[in-house]
Amino acid sequence: MERFDDFMARANEAYYARGDFSRDFVTAPELTPVFGELLGAWARVVWDMLGAPADFWLAEAGPGRGTLMASALRAFPQARGRVQFIERSPALRAAQERRVPDAVWHDGLATVPAGPMILLANEFLDALPVRQFVRRGAGWAERFVAAGAYVEQPADIALPDAPEGAVREVNEAAQGFVRALAARGGVGLFIDYGAATGAPAETVQAIRGGAFADPLAAPGEADITAHVDFAALAGAAPAQGPVKLNAFLTALGLFPRTDQLAQRHPDQAFALKTAAQRLTAPEAMGSLHKVLAICPAGTPTLPGFET
Ligand code: SAH
Repeated sequence: MERFDDFMARANEAYYARGDFSRDFVTAPELTPVFGELLGAWARVVWDMLGAPADFWLAEAGPGRGTLMASALRAFPQARGRVQFIERSPALRAAQERRVPDAVWHDGLATVPAGPMILLANEFLDALPVRQFVRRGAGWAERFVAAGAYVEQPADIALPDAPEGAVREVNEAAQGFVRALAARGGVGLFIDYGAATGAPAETVQAIRGGAFADPLAAPGEADITAHVDFAALAGAAPAQGPVKLNAFLTALGLFPRTDQLAQRHPDQAFALKTAAQRLTAPEAMGSLHKVLAICPAGTPTLPGFET
């Protein structure tokens, strides 16, 4: 018997160890180079706000195929040679090295060297394990996994009351990550899908071969994710946002930059414009996807968080 978050951590480690996830799902930086460029431009403005220190790190958590960082460095050339990647999968590290050869790799935040740090993370927190609790009677039970099925045990933490059978997820790993980032004084930009308010809901899902699958059925063959509880993260560390992805990207200039690139590369114009639509359409990624910045208390409003 294994607690659900331990099961999810183990399953995802095996899943990402296999390497390329692009046959299962498409992420924003793989849709259009403009996404990574805008995040690079954002990081450059933050670096300026920090006083443009010569010694600093541009970090990324869960860099996937390295596409986002390769695009970001075009808009933030001062960060070349200063890239720190947090990634455990050997196969993905190899893919990242092809696109950002001089990066340095880490298993977690703890080993990133001291100094000012700006960290980017797209669809990273949703892959981190969550604990799952089910309301039973006057208390809560926690979900474990045994022989491919859920088993419930009495919960050892207190949670607010909820209707019988309600499921509440607690993203302890994600909260720990943003707390550790805040503790070292870093600035982080997290883009992921999830609600802005922490209403209880069961959001764990698995994608296998591009289709929804049973999260317990084939550990390591499906990508298991949970919606990010942004309210819990904003409560764990000083933050700005969350704001909706479409408002954020529009404020950063997604459409003018897309038009500029489309004029320069007419053969790619359709793909670039379709991607910009997909990133901003409320029924696609524009509304469910949110952007949260973790930054020291008192930081002036960061680009894209004006609303
Ligand atoms: N940011 C990329 C990839 C998203 S997929 C993109 O937008 O395309 C999730 C990424 O997080 C993968 O790189 C995966 O290997 C990494 N990841 C998942 N769990 C992790 C963990 N516990 N520690 C470090 N990286 C992790």
